[in-house]
Amino acid sequence: MAHQLTLLPGDGIGPEVTEATLQVIEAAGVDIDWDRHRVIGANAVERGRPALPSDIVDSIQERGTALKGPVTTPVGQGFTSVNVQLRQRLDLYSNVRPATSLEGLDTPFDDVDLIIFRENTEGLYSGIEYYDERLDIADSIARVTKRGAERIIRFCFEYAQAHGREHVTLAHKANILKKTSGLFLDIGRDLAAEYPDIEFEDSIIDNLCMQLVTNPENYDCIVSTNLFGDILSDLTAGLVGGLGVTPGANIGDELAVFEAVHGSAPDIAGQNVANPTAMTRTAAMMLQHIGEDEAAAAIEQSLFAMYRDGDTLTQDVGGDASTSEFADALSDRVASKV
Ligand code: NAD
Repeated sequence: MAHQLTLLPGDGIGPEVTEATLQVIEAAGVDIDWDRHRVIGANAVERGRPALPSDIVDSIQERGTALKGPVTTPVGQGFTSVNVQLRQRLDLYSNVRPATSLEGLDTPFDDVDLIIFRENTEGLYSGIEYYDERLDIADSIARVTKRGAERIIRFCFEYAQAHGREHVTLAHKANILKKTSGLFLDIGRDLAAEYPDIEFEDSIIDNLCMQLVTNPENYDCIVSTNLFGDILSDLTAGLVGGLGVTPGANIGDELAVFEAVHGSAPDIAGQNVANPTAMTRTAAMMLQHIGEDEAAAAIEQSLFAMYRDGDTLTQDVGGDASTSEFADALSDRVASKV
């Protein structure tokens, strides 16, 4: 029977990389009945609708799992990020962002294999901001709750245990942010005692950034609050070839929305040059999540082989193939594996 999933192609490069990914999923032979929603973000607002129309939330709540392209967020003004709204409304508290070296890709390191676990619903993204016009002062509240910290840190430990990973690093700034980062760190230390087989350490965020750009091979699972996790995952994407190759997932207790780390890339949108690797790897994570392990493995292995052989790669990773040429080549490889 076909899987019933929700599809949000998004805007900017979203529709291009989504089309490429659908072609690859089809080549893997997975039968999916997609509930597609193209009206989201700015194009929803232009039609007089909320940036995150309620039929999208309803669809994901009903179907449980979605594949999502990036959605542009206006800077400084306009509507609240659709991405943040989705994560908060669907309580997708774990943002899982792997960064793995791809053999064949010329990067400063060739042995990176780590995962960022970013708390996805609170911290500086809580949306609690004030502007005092009389005093010209802006405030933003970085709310950390015991429940919120506990569930993301536990998710990280559980994931590490289930996937044979051995080391968890908790990134914080508890020396300065004694209450918020302090709470997150205290809870991390308490939970670490429940997982004696997993090595635990904590690291101050600025030092961790320096360590990551010098010795990334020393890291395995890294858990942090929302903003630190966001910044860390772009940094680690840069270590392994950039935003064009790094996948991601937003996971809650019941629902999951799979989306790459990258945004809508307005600088290259509509040119058929975007790299669909991040989105296809994101789709592979989704396929694993819905029990289609064989198809997920076929996609991952075909991608790795393509990079190893260095053929049909896109511009951002040193090739000259278009988005659609990449999708055709990858689909052919996947089809020959399943
Ligand atoms: P971005 O990720 O869109 O782009 C950063 C750089 O990476 C650009 O030079 C872009 O060309 C390049 N890049 C990104 N993805 C690529 C790909 N697949 N192939 C090749 N090159 C790629 O980040 P940004 O410019 O800061 O953000 C643009 C918009 O996207 C903003 O409105 C932002 O709010 C939004 N955004 C959305 C999401 C999401 O929907 N989950 C995530 C991040 C940013």
